Amino acid sequence: MSEWRNWSGQTSCAPALVARPRTEDELAFTLRRSAGRTVRPIGSSHSFTELCVTDGVQIDIAELRHVISVDEQDRMRVQAGITLHELNRQLLRHGLALPNLGDIDTQTLAGAAATGTHGTGLGFGNISQTIVSVRIMAADGTVHEITGGDELRAARISLGALGVVTEFTLQCVPSFRLYRRQSVHDLDSVLADLPALLADTDHLELYLFPHTRRVLLLQSTRTDESPWPRHPVKHWVERDLVENGALGALMWTAGRVPAAAPRISQLVAALAGSNESQDESAAVFASPRKVKFTEMEYSLPLANAGEAIETALATIERNRHRVAFPLEVRFTQADDALLAPAYGRESVYLAVHQTIHGQWEPYFRDLEPILIGLGGRPHWGKRHTLTADQLSERYPEWQTFQDVRARLDPAGMFSGGYLSRLLGPVRP
Ligand SMILES: Cc1cc2nc3c(=O)[nH]c(=O)nc-3n(C[C@H](O)[C@H](O)[C@H](O)COP(=O)(O)OP(=O)(O)OC[C@H]3O[C@@H](n4cnc5c(N)ncnc54)[C@H](O)[C@@H]3O)c2cc1C
Repeated sequence: MSEWRNWSGQTSCAPALVARPRTEDELAFTLRRSAGRTVRPIGSSHSFTELCVTDGVQIDIAELRHVISVDEQDRMRVQAGITLHELNRQLLRHGLALPNLGDIDTQTLAGAAATGTHGTGLGFGNISQTIVSVRIMAADGTVHEITGGDELRAARISLGALGVVTEFTLQCVPSFRLYRRQSVHDLDSVLADLPALLADTDHLELYLFPHTRRVLLLQSTRTDESPWPRHPVKHWVERDLVENGALGALMWTAGRVPAAAPRISQLVAALAGSNESQDESAAVFASPRKVKFTEMEYSLPLANAGEAIETALATIERNRHRVAFPLEVRFTQADDALLAPAYGRESVYLAVHQTIHGQWEPYFRDLEPILIGLGGRPHWGKRHTLTADQLSERYPEWQTFQDVRARLDPAGMFSGGYLSRLLGPVRP
């Protein structure tokens, strides 16, 4: 029995067995031998919650990570255990890219899709919205090729509750570059200009510095122009030393000495400056995250962006939370996956972070009801306290997902524990 821990190190378990199948036959063998036990597929373990926790069987498909084919319609068939980093590399070799990405690339494709991992850009979807087919192995070892209908809309964001995904077909786009401009502004002017900023920017992201009225804007615009040459030393100084090293030290201090957090946030806001870069899309979207933190993120109707931001910042002050980590605000188009947090609506995502040594519980506990009250649906891979009863009210096609779940996993092999809290029991 070996101990498993997630990326932040705050969630752990001791599964009876960790299987690392290299082929579908090995996977089928493991599943058939696991009858009667709880089975949880795992990716790169970057989720902040207990999605992968079990004392039964964990299935890690990191060995299933190869590109299978690329067709003339820019569709890539790929094994589900590939990391986003490797996927982006392979796509670029074929002159392709994913249309949008989150801010890191160390997750597996299967893990990122399963929780609805998203980036930013009101005209763009999350990673799972590029999926046009899914190959999934059910509890009895049978393989299902899912190419459309309710089953595809369930399998795109599945929380690993339907079976083990082994392959995806992705609708990709021709590779493109991004021009990114970083600049610091006053919050009031950003909120007043938000509709125009969203209309003018392909990928808009806001970092709000708590205990200040300052905002760091990241504006990324798609371009066909060439990448700018990157000075390796300058790049290392900016990304590794300043963004991760110096910021890491400041956040670490804020976690250990909460009273210093407001000053640290003000200092970071004062130091944040303007910057420009231009590179291949994946290199701009994703960057390393070396500071360990924990996170809660909710998707809200776009119209509630301003109220959510103002209320969150006011609550931090009123309840005297000591927070140095910026709040992150992103935007996405609507999604039709049955369990998509952005289901049926253009969305703003508001994320709050705290260092792993910091006091995240009272902070997240105070903000969560505000986000729920504004129509929020939680990110499936991040901290929240909602249970099946509350979640079912937020998802108009909840029962359709449950019907697919009951068809593919009638005995509930992929449920139990945290999954049962989220989804309730399987009712065949
Ligand atoms: C530093 C950091 C930055 C992040 N940035 C972003 C971001 O920008 N945007 C965003 O939306 N999220 C972000 N996240 C959250 C992260 O993308 C999600 O939690 C994602 O699910 C993690 O992928 P993973 O490969 O680590 O999967 P895991 O966390 O290991 O698993 C996630 C889910 O996928 C399921 N799963 C894994 N493999 C399979 C399979 N083969 N078949 C079926 N189900 C499977 C698991 O059962 C589980 O339910 C971030 C997390 C961290 C730690």
